Amino acid sequence: MGGISPLSTFVWPILIIGGGPAGLSAAINARKRNKQVMVLAKEQISHKLQAAPKVANYPGIADITGTELGKALYEHASAMGTEFKRDEAQQIVKDGDVFWVMGREEQYQARKLLLAVGVMENKSIPGENEFEGKGVSYCATCDGAFFRGKDVAMIAYLPEAETEARFLAGICRRVYYIPQYRPLPQSIAENVTILSGVPKSITGQETVAAIEIGDQSLSVQGIFIERPGIPPLKLIDGLQIVNEKIIIDENMETNIPGVYAAGDCTGRPWQIARAVGQGQIAAIAMAKELDKR
Ligand SMILES: Cc1cc2nc3c(=O)[nH]c(=O)nc-3n(C[C@H](O)[C@H](O)[C@H](O)COP(=O)(O)OP(=O)(O)OC[C@H]3O[C@@H](n4cnc5c(N)ncnc54)[C@H](O)[C@@H]3O)c2cc1C
Repeated sequence: MGGISPLSTFVWPILIIGGGPAGLSAAINARKRNKQVMVLAKEQISHKLQAAPKVANYPGIADITGTELGKALYEHASAMGTEFKRDEAQQIVKDGDVFWVMGREEQYQARKLLLAVGVMENKSIPGENEFEGKGVSYCATCDGAFFRGKDVAMIAYLPEAETEARFLAGICRRVYYIPQYRPLPQSIAENVTILSGVPKSITGQETVAAIEIGDQSLSVQGIFIERPGIPPLKLIDGLQIVNEKIIIDENMETNIPGVYAAGDCTGRPWQIARAVGQGQIAAIAMAKELDKR
């Protein structure tokens, strides 16, 4: 498997977005079917697994921590020859029978895609959907330059966002950094103001004009939101989602041919065994489809 640079024009037969139990189970089973597979994951061990102090309902393992299970799954997938890339998929575009996955770091191409992105804990902020692309952005690297010399806010659900805020500080006049995690950072840059508080709403007319935090209204032209994951609807246009669940058939294929989904993102129960089972079904289905080519 080695030697294939994700920067090259190589088209991955299977690309999996998300390295939790669903994604890793799919990777193991795709490798078992001798398919080249890349897992694109924001983190080596899913934060959901890391948060599980004790998993006692995974068949065959009476007592294990989520982190231990995540590490075992990662090592298994890795030993099977899975390629891993630490990156976040930002957008997916279909071009003929190839999917382009735009990451924060690089772009990737694939014939079959598996969305194993888990569920987001954080609901949208009122006004967020309305102003998406009109001042609300999920990618400082992609959109920061549009706000050169302007005032922006960043709502951050994870400390990794501090790097992005530092980047914005070099472009924007002022950055309000509003962390939703603890402890609060001490400082980020001279023109970054760190504020505690929960964002209440995003307001404006045609474009963003302000964000309401507690009883303050901050006048800003841009709002960057950094969450542990991008909502699947924002990843790929036209994906059928009902009641926050990606709709799949018995092969885990979504309404977009060639795009599969597995794990928590397809609905409840949000459990490891279900995620692992769905990942396996998706991998076998993707491998079968590839074999028809
Ligand atoms: C406190 C706690 C305790 C739990 N205890 C148990 C238990 O005892 N038993 C049990 O069965 N279940 C338990 N669970 C639930 C279990 O952790 C989940 O059901 C399981 O992790 C779901 O796996 P998944 O692969 O679908 O998603 P996740 O594990 O959420 O993995 C998804 C991964 O995709 C990544 N990702 C998301 N978007 C992108 C993107 N755009 N680009 C790249 N990567 C992306 C995320 O960062 C994440 O790493 C617990 C959960 C919590 C929070």
